[in-house]
Amino acid sequence: MESTLRRTWSEIDLDALKYNYSVLRNKVGKSVKFLGVVKADAYGHGSIMVSKTLEEAGADYLAVSSIDEAMELRVNGIKMPILILGHTPKEQVERLIEYDITQAVTCKAKAKEYSNEAVKINKILKIHIKVDTGMSRLGYLCDGDFFDTGIEGILEAINMRGLDAEGIFTHFAVSDEDDEKSVEYTKHQLKLFKDVISEVERRMGRKFRIRHCANTGAVAKYPETYMDMVRPGLLLYGYGAYAKELGLKPVMTLKTTVSTIKIYPAGTPVSYGGIYVTDKTTRMGVLPYGYADGFFRALSNKATLMTANGKAFVRGKICMDMCMIDISDMPDVEVGSEIEVFGKNNPIEELSDLAGTIPYELTCAVSKRVPRKYIVNNEVIEQELMLRMRG
Ligand SMILES: *Cc1c(COP(=O)(O)O)cnc(C)c1O
Repeated sequence: MESTLRRTWSEIDLDALKYNYSVLRNKVGKSVKFLGVVKADAYGHGSIMVSKTLEEAGADYLAVSSIDEAMELRVNGIKMPILILGHTPKEQVERLIEYDITQAVTCKAKAKEYSNEAVKINKILKIHIKVDTGMSRLGYLCDGDFFDTGIEGILEAINMRGLDAEGIFTHFAVSDEDDEKSVEYTKHQLKLFKDVISEVERRMGRKFRIRHCANTGAVAKYPETYMDMVRPGLLLYGYGAYAKELGLKPVMTLKTTVSTIKIYPAGTPVSYGGIYVTDKTTRMGVLPYGYADGFFRALSNKATLMTANGKAFVRGKICMDMCMIDISDMPDVEVGSEIEVFGKNNPIEELSDLAGTIPYELTCAVSKRVPRKYIVNNEVIEQELMLRMRG
C-alpha cells in the first residue's frame, strides 16, 4: 500500500538488520541456532519484512506472542518454525497444527487442554516447555521448594498424548542489568534452568532437541547461556547499550517534516495550556507528528529532534497530530525539511531516557498511520501503510 503523503514515516533499514544478524551470528557461532523475536510486529519494524530478511539471512526460528501474529507470518509466506511465547486458546490448537506453529506450554492446565484438543483430531502439537526460573511470569515454577513439583509437572506434560516436546526454555529477568545482584540473579536462573533440564532429561530418558534462554542481555554478556539456541529481540534491531558495544546499527529511523513555519513575538504562549511562552522573537516549525503517531505527550517541552542545523527543542504541549519545534537560528530548516525524530543521527536512547522508558516502547508506539519504507541498498523496496484502505 502506497502512502501519498510526505508527512511522518519510518525507514526500516533491512541492510542494518542483516548486518546486526551477521554480527550476532558470528558472536554465537554456527552450531547455535538463532531465533529472532518478532513479536509486536517486530517491535514496530514490520514483522513480515523483518522475518523475510531473517529467513534469507539464515535464522532458524521466529517467536511471536500470539496466534494472530503467527498467522500473519504464515499467510505471508514465512516458512520458518515459529514459536508462540504466550497462550493460545484451546479452540485454536487445530490451527496451530495445520500451520505448523510451535506452542509454549507454561502450566498443567494448558498442557491438558492442548493435549486433549490434539488427541481429538489425532494429531501432534509441537511444544516448548516454559520454565519459570525467576521471571515470575509464565512457566512451571521450579525454584527452591517448587523444584520437585515443577519437574513432575513438566514430565507430565511431556508424556501427554498429542504433544511433542521439541524444546524447553526460560526467560531472564535482569540479564540486561550490570550490578552485582543482577549478575548473581541471572546466574542463579541459569543454574536452576540447567538443573531442571538435567533432571527432566534423566527421568524421561532422552534429550530435548532445543534448549534456549538467551535474550538480549544474555546474548551480549553471558555466552554460557547460549545452549542450543539464542533468542534476542532488541539486539537485532540495534538499540541499547549492548548494541552500541557490539557496533550494531539502528534499524528504524523515524522521520517527519516541517509543514508550516511561523514567527512569533516574545511573550507568545504556544500550544494547549500555554505551558511554553516565547522569550524572544521565535521562528517555530509545526510538525505533522503528535501523540497519535506515537510521540509521548510526556515529552512535551522536553524532547529535541534532529534538524539539518542540529537539535531543535519541542516547545509546548505535544498535540494529537502535531507538535512545534523552535527553529530560530536554523536557517537551513525550511518548509518541507526532513526532521529526524530518532534513528541514525538522533539516538533513540536519548529520547527513551528522557521519557523514562526503554527503546522498545518507542519503536512499538509508532502507530498504524505512520507508513513504513523498507530500505535495501539505499533504495525503498517496499512501502506499507496499515490503514484500512482495501474496502
Ligand atoms: C520479548 C522476549 C524476548 C526478547 O527480549 P529482548 O530483550 O528483546 O532480547 C525473548 N524471550 C521472551 C520469552 C520474550 O518475551
